[in-house]
Amino acid sequence: MKIDKIETFLLESPIEEPFGWSMGWAEKRTCLVTKITTDDGVVGWGEGGGSPSQSVIHDIFAPILLGKDPGNINQLWHEFFQSLHNDNQTGGFGGDAISNIDIALWDIAGKAAGKSISDLLGGSIRDKVAVYATGLYYREDEFPTKLIAEAESYAQSGYKGMKTKIGGLSVPDDVKRVKAIRDAIGDDLYLMVDANKAYNVSTAIDIGNRLSDLNIHWFEEPVLANDVDAYLEVKSGQPLAIAGGEVLHNRYEARDFLSNRALDIIQPDVRFIGGITEFRNVATMANAMGIQVNPHVWGSPIMISASISLTSTFPACPYARVPRPYEQEPVMEFDQTPSPIRNELASIAFEQKGGYVEIPKGPGLGIEIDESVVERFCVGRATSEL
Ligand code: CA
Repeated sequence: MKIDKIETFLLESPIEEPFGWSMGWAEKRTCLVTKITTDDGVVGWGEGGGSPSQSVIHDIFAPILLGKDPGNINQLWHEFFQSLHNDNQTGGFGGDAISNIDIALWDIAGKAAGKSISDLLGGSIRDKVAVYATGLYYREDEFPTKLIAEAESYAQSGYKGMKTKIGGLSVPDDVKRVKAIRDAIGDDLYLMVDANKAYNVSTAIDIGNRLSDLNIHWFEEPVLANDVDAYLEVKSGQPLAIAGGEVLHNRYEARDFLSNRALDIIQPDVRFIGGITEFRNVATMANAMGIQVNPHVWGSPIMISASISLTSTFPACPYARVPRPYEQEPVMEFDQTPSPIRNELASIAFEQKGGYVEIPKGPGLGIEIDESVVERFCVGRATSEL
């Protein structure tokens, strides 16, 4: 089997109600998806990056890929990596392109073998994956009615945990906002906070201490994403468990966070870390160091399916006779913010029941992409072919 054609589609959809976090305000959702077609007619879909990655895929990766056997994922991954690494661009401009193509190659491998991605990875360890609701972003006129109604809706629909934003308001106002959520949902559900890198070390330590009596399960991205020393200072200066790592691009970037125990929980994103291939490497490194792996997931059904499949194969950390989500078992982010692309791109939607989602069982990613939806949201396309 050989790769005949590589097509990329930059997708964009408006959303009904804008929402924000410490560093941004969303009025639309975007993603870059790739369709790889083989001479046997097998099609694989990948996701990751934006228009810079589109250029990398067609200018740098297409000459590596066209005419090659898509089953040689390991060899191709390292050819991609070296093609960028030698220009020192792996983690910067276009580095997400590796993830995008890697996911598509795993989709092809699964479809060609008639196996799901979790089966290709050696089989799942659990029959469903624990998820938490990501929502509770900042919105206009939200406090307290809309905010509390949203938190209560997650509790009522079965989630065992949810995550909100901090860093968008003053420290006292954010603490008040988090307390309102905790008061509304009670003490039995997990509640996490995400600063999206909003703070310097002293402010992060300040808010971590102020939140310490609200039973916060983790404090995500307190400071600059690549500053290992700052993470270590925050970790030792306040009592909350520290999470981060969603922007890491490969095992080398993850290494210093892991070896220094700068994180309690690492949250790689399959669209950034280097796809399924590299995510597995980083997850194994983290597991050996007793660091939880709770994937960052915020995209289309392509990356959601890839993330569930991967997460189903992660061993408990540490081993336990009956591992529990949030303690030994991984818990995956499940994005509840508005996204027509997420809701419409695939024929099946992943649904949360009782705090879990089912593992995709069909070949490859186990989803059918609706190409009329790709056309509808596409704002930029490119093609490379033999
Ligand atoms: Ca985050």
